[in-house]
Amino acid sequence: MKMIKTKKYIEPMGPWKKTNSCGELRKKDIGKEVILMGWAQSRRDHGGLIFIDLRDHEGISQIVFDPEDSADAHEKAHIIKNEYVIAVKGKVISRLAGSKNPNMPTGEIEIKARQVKILNVSDALPFNINDKIEINDNLRLKYRYLDLRQSRMQRNLHLRHQVCMEIRNYLNSKNFLDIETPFLTKSTPEGARDYIVPSRVNPGKFYALPQSPQLFKQLLMVAGFEKYYQIVRCFRDEDLRADRAPEFTQLDMEMSFVDRDEIFNLVEEMFTYIFNKLFNIKLKMPFIKIDYQEAISRYGTDKPDLRFGMEIIELTEIFQKSSFRVFGEVIQNKGKICAIKVESDKEFSRKKLDDLHLFIASFGAKGLSCIKIREGKDFQFSIAKFLSPEEIEKVKFKTNAKPGNLILIVAGQKEVVYEALGNLRLKLANDSNLINQDKKEFNFLWVTNFPLLEYNPEEKRYEAVHHPFTAPLDEDIELLDTNPLKVRSKAYDLVINGNEIGGGSIRIHNTDLQKIIFKLLGIDDEKAEQKFGFLLQALKYGAPPHGGIAFGLDRLVMLLAGASSIREVIAFPKTQKAACLLTDAPSEVDPMQLKELHIKLDLPL
Ligand code: ASP
Repeated sequence: MKMIKTKKYIEPMGPWKKTNSCGELRKKDIGKEVILMGWAQSRRDHGGLIFIDLRDHEGISQIVFDPEDSADAHEKAHIIKNEYVIAVKGKVISRLAGSKNPNMPTGEIEIKARQVKILNVSDALPFNINDKIEINDNLRLKYRYLDLRQSRMQRNLHLRHQVCMEIRNYLNSKNFLDIETPFLTKSTPEGARDYIVPSRVNPGKFYALPQSPQLFKQLLMVAGFEKYYQIVRCFRDEDLRADRAPEFTQLDMEMSFVDRDEIFNLVEEMFTYIFNKLFNIKLKMPFIKIDYQEAISRYGTDKPDLRFGMEIIELTEIFQKSSFRVFGEVIQNKGKICAIKVESDKEFSRKKLDDLHLFIASFGAKGLSCIKIREGKDFQFSIAKFLSPEEIEKVKFKTNAKPGNLILIVAGQKEVVYEALGNLRLKLANDSNLINQDKKEFNFLWVTNFPLLEYNPEEKRYEAVHHPFTAPLDEDIELLDTNPLKVRSKAYDLVINGNEIGGGSIRIHNTDLQKIIFKLLGIDDEKAEQKFGFLLQALKYGAPPHGGIAFGLDRLVMLLAGASSIREVIAFPKTQKAACLLTDAPSEVDPMQLKELHIKLDLPL
């Protein structure tokens, strides 16, 4: 065998055993002989003394190399560069008065090195590992294993682990069973595009990766498991945004013989337990519940952020007889005229109002009418100039406006108005710092009674708002025949600080009703049989009433970590283009592999 060429100063660990982590030593350990191992975060050469910050997964300890104490160790310390892996044998001593660092948990002590081993060297890094500098995202993903060395990333993944542990602790205490479901399966119905996997042994046939374990968890209920959960990967081939990933993790749950309120109660208890355990935060139970329609009309969204006010106020009534043509037309077309009120108009220059105009236009809204309320004469901008004094008075009364307030009005089709004002509300809260980011405030709320169906005008058919297995409200079942869009469902979402964190429903457990819903969704018997035949079959064999929910774990941990993207809490995430910059996936495959799968490529030119 050829000799492995290595730097002569690299040594094996030999019999050395790590006695402590770099983050755990304190004043009480002074005098102890320890062995620490980790990465040299930085080295400072003070002429006589050399200091190295030694880092491992738990923190940093300062190592001091004194030539008087150990000339040999001091000599070797000269070689050590950033991110060299070293082992240090030495004694915990007190730092001199004046050199203690109150910002470091180990800041009162240091380790006087007697011996040091260089276990491995490191090339110069593509970026420094010190949390401080902004590093280019692509570089971070390419060298993810280095990026993950940053303490912020270490903290995020620790937090993720703890959240999962506490979820498991809680659910285990309630007798939930963790049951795995297949990854190589048939298409599941969450409404996104499937990732598909060719089957070599069944030429021309494909598996779909699960968009969620929805069908399997329902089958587990039919199988009598009653309380199921899984922390599970799901796959959806969607166009990606900052808070989406092609593969993401859900906490997936399902229960039999429960109604909606029992599910709410269990989930609330679970979050209360986790928040108490991890952050010592006491959540207030029961969580607020808000009807879907109310969420839309008060906040313009089905995931409202209730940490601040600025609710949407409807003004349509006031303009019923308006001579202002634009509003008149909106009313004629069954549209809406709505407003939000800003407490202080101070920062709203002409330019800022023009910007807001462009902002709402990006949601399809036509004009933004602005009224600055003043003692004496109010100022009206843009189309508000055409409103009569009586109308303005009524608006002031309806919005309870005071001098100094600013009223922003949008008119149009109701979907456009709500979307524009809902987003405007969030933008204004952000711009004026209405949300205290330092305060760890978590505003939980349930959104209930979603519509069961929505209409897809392009495909001229109804679509399930949640998924096709969601049960309609009992009192709305009759409307399935006459006015399907009016039917509300037993679906619910859990929202935290304006983020949809989970969603679920009570399911249909009756084959006939399931078939009716499939029909409404344009899935005829044959197609239903082909796609979900196994479920329909199972429902025939004594399916119990059941329901459940699934939470986006990445998004939840992102919120808890105060991070701005789910990529900050996923060890090896993909880019917006679903690529892994670290491994270079997806990549071309060997033509032999394609041949085995009987696949020929027909790529765009
Ligand atoms: N399977 C659903 C989802 O992934 C959640 C549920 O209904 O339990 O969104």
